[in-house]
This record gives sequence, C-alpha cells and structure tokens, in this order.
Amino acid sequence: MEDDLYKRLTREFHDAAGIDHEGTKEDELLWVSMLTEEVGELAEAVNKDKDDVIGEELADVVIVAFGMARICDIDLREEFIEKMEYNVEKSGETTEGGKVVDDA
Ligand SMILES: [Mg+2]
Repeated sequence: MEDDLYKRLTREFHDAAGIDHEGTKEDELLWVSMLTEEVGELAEAVNKDKDDVIGEELADVVIVAFGMARICDIDLREEFIEKMEYNVEKSGETTEGGKVVDDA
C-alpha cells in the first residue's frame, strides 16, 4: 500500500464534496463534532449488536479523523507511528483497558 493513499483519497473526497481546507478553530470544532457523531454511530452499532455495520461505522471514524488531520495540516500517519512507538515502548506499564496510562 502506498504511503499516502489515505491522504490522496481524503483529498479526492474533499475536492468532490467541496470541503474547504481552512483549519480555523471553528473548522476544527466542527470536525471534532463530526468525529463525536461518528463515534456515537459506532457505539450505537455495537450496542444494538449490528455486527454487519460496525466495520463501516469504524471506517467513518477513521475517515473523519483523516479529514480533520488534512484540515489541520497534521500528518496523521506520522502521528500514528510516533504514538504507536510510544505505546509499544510503554507497554507492560500500567494500562487501563488497553490504554497506556502516562505516569506524568
Ligand atoms: Mg457513521
């Protein structure tokens, strides 16, 4: 898989949907709101045992996350790798439900 596939598809989707690349705080809050909405839909799918749509709803969460990253000029792939390397390094230390707890 090419490294920037997610970026390219996100850009194509934004272009097709006429989503502007602004990155103001107002925009960022709108994207957080969309992310929250998609997480809510995922929670509903899990709660209602809709196993056939859980993957789709999870994909929506990732799509909005990549969309917000683009709007905010964040390299999400780079952030993901950096955070996962941190998580791997910290694994074995205190965790809560799989989430690494920072001692700081
Ligand atoms: Mg959804």
